[in-house]
Amino acid sequence: MEDVDAVVIGAGVVGLAVARALAQAGREVLILEAENAFGTGTSSRNSEVMHAGIYYPTGSLRARLCVRGKQLLYDFCASHGVAHQRCGKLIVAATADELPALDRLLATAHANGVPDLQRLGAAEAQALEPALHCVGALLSPSTGIIDSHGLMLALLGDAEAAGAVLALCAPVQAGRCTPQGIELDVGGEEPMQLRARTVVNSASLQAPALARQFKGLDAAHIPHDHLAKGCYFTLPGRAPFSRLVYPAPGQSSHLGVHLTLDLGGQARFGPSFEWVDAIDYTVDAAGADHFYAEVRRYWPGLPDCVLQPGYAGIRPKISGPGEPAADFRIDGPAVHGVPGLVNLFGIESPGLTSSLAIADLVLERLGPSDF
Ligand SMILES: Cc1cc2nc3c(=O)[nH]c(=O)nc-3n(C[C@H](O)[C@H](O)[C@H](O)COP(=O)(O)OP(=O)(O)OC[C@H]3O[C@@H](n4cnc5c(N)ncnc54)[C@H](O)[C@@H]3O)c2cc1C
Repeated sequence: MEDVDAVVIGAGVVGLAVARALAQAGREVLILEAENAFGTGTSSRNSEVMHAGIYYPTGSLRARLCVRGKQLLYDFCASHGVAHQRCGKLIVAATADELPALDRLLATAHANGVPDLQRLGAAEAQALEPALHCVGALLSPSTGIIDSHGLMLALLGDAEAAGAVLALCAPVQAGRCTPQGIELDVGGEEPMQLRARTVVNSASLQAPALARQFKGLDAAHIPHDHLAKGCYFTLPGRAPFSRLVYPAPGQSSHLGVHLTLDLGGQARFGPSFEWVDAIDYTVDAAGADHFYAEVRRYWPGLPDCVLQPGYAGIRPKISGPGEPAADFRIDGPAVHGVPGLVNLFGIESPGLTSSLAIADLVLERLGPSDF
């Protein structure tokens, strides 16, 4: 059994941000990643939007960490040369009965500490985006887009510069919480057993299942996991908008089929929302059919038959169908009683935006005895 100081399980954007923060705090960090490259999971299968913090219930971790994370992320991008663009976003009401939803969002945003939203009439919104149809809109100037792979590369660079080591093809299979530390069984071509003083479970879609393999961790502290798939379709040619465009939120907790832009200026629409039983990233071309009607509510000019299958991501949900959307869970020893262990559960959107703020909170939840 080899002794290591701190282990981070999972090299997505959150695991890498946590590893960086631990290493910069003076810890010896080993990052264990199941795949043969970092960032091949949810972190490279999302909208790459730096969210402002508008939608989430006030006081929730999702709201607080998004607002703080967005600022940290803009600063990090500037200091590390990570490609990004503060392009802004419009949230649009396509019909008059959607206008009250904009007013509710405006109030939530203010309460969440996002003071810069502007309420626009139809003409004002169309002056910004001539192709847009709406009866009113909210402009969020601080929403932006980011190169998520560039971000992860920069986080890993910082972590390695502070001494962290990334081990690929190193799936953690089980753990035991003992008074001497947390023992981990690591599979792959060279299976090994490790004992760590600190373990951060940042395995995203697999985090609850992995936690269930930890002896000594009370199952009462592990949530049910659910998967919700989202598919994107891309629009060839010139993007019709220069800002992101989101529909006003309806009853469901997902943000609707929106238009995002990548840093090359290409437009894509998505993500759809479908509960699934297994991780499968294929995109069914027929799925575009229902996009046309949704998109034409705010962009009537969408031509027929132009949308191309893009990619899919899967949301690591800890609330199931019909349940209210769960908050992020960043469960440290104060929650589950195991010294040195932090489990990250339900880190769906806005996890990319929040990644640096999540990392700070993980260190806080580990507590001073871990440092
Ligand atoms: C469709 C969609 C759109 C989204 N859009 C946005 C957005 O626009 N803005 C935003 O802020 N957020 C967005 N998000 C959320 C964001 O993508 C995630 O919150 C974030 O990427 C989570 O990062 P992570 O590191 O927790 O997970 P991941 O990137 O999934 O990383 C987890 C890693 O753990 C590894 N792993 C799993 N099991 C093990 C194991 N047993 N041992 C070792 N390694 C293991 C995996 O291989 C993976 O690399 C979106 C999410 C989805 C699904």
